[in-house]
Amino acid sequence: MINYIQLAITKEQLLSGQDTQKFVTEFPKLVNLLSIGIPEVKIELPLSNMNKSEIIEKGNALGLTFEETWSCYYSYSEHCGICYGCIVRKKGFQESKVKDPTIYKDGK
Ligand SMILES: [Zn+2]
Repeated sequence: MINYIQLAITKEQLLSGQDTQKFVTEFPKLVNLLSIGIPEVKIELPLSNMNKSEIIEKGNALGLTFEETWSCYYSYSEHCGICYGCIVRKKGFQESKVKDPTIYKDGK
């Protein structure tokens, strides 16, 4: 039996700097170090060849309910609108053909 861990790392994140690339390289080593006695664990990056707007368009084509997704780094009742996760989310929707249904605390 093979166990999988899927990381939602986008193309932009992968290309953004050495920290993400180093994480992608080192994370499987950590998982294997900690999974002694557990069947093989494989790390997958199913979104790493798509940027955020492409992921949004793909999700839209698959019928994803974006109101049920969360990008904000904080656990408010609504997206804050100003953290990095919210900024990337807004930009992704702006660059896609999909209307952003997200309610942001900053009102933008
Ligand atoms: Zn936020």
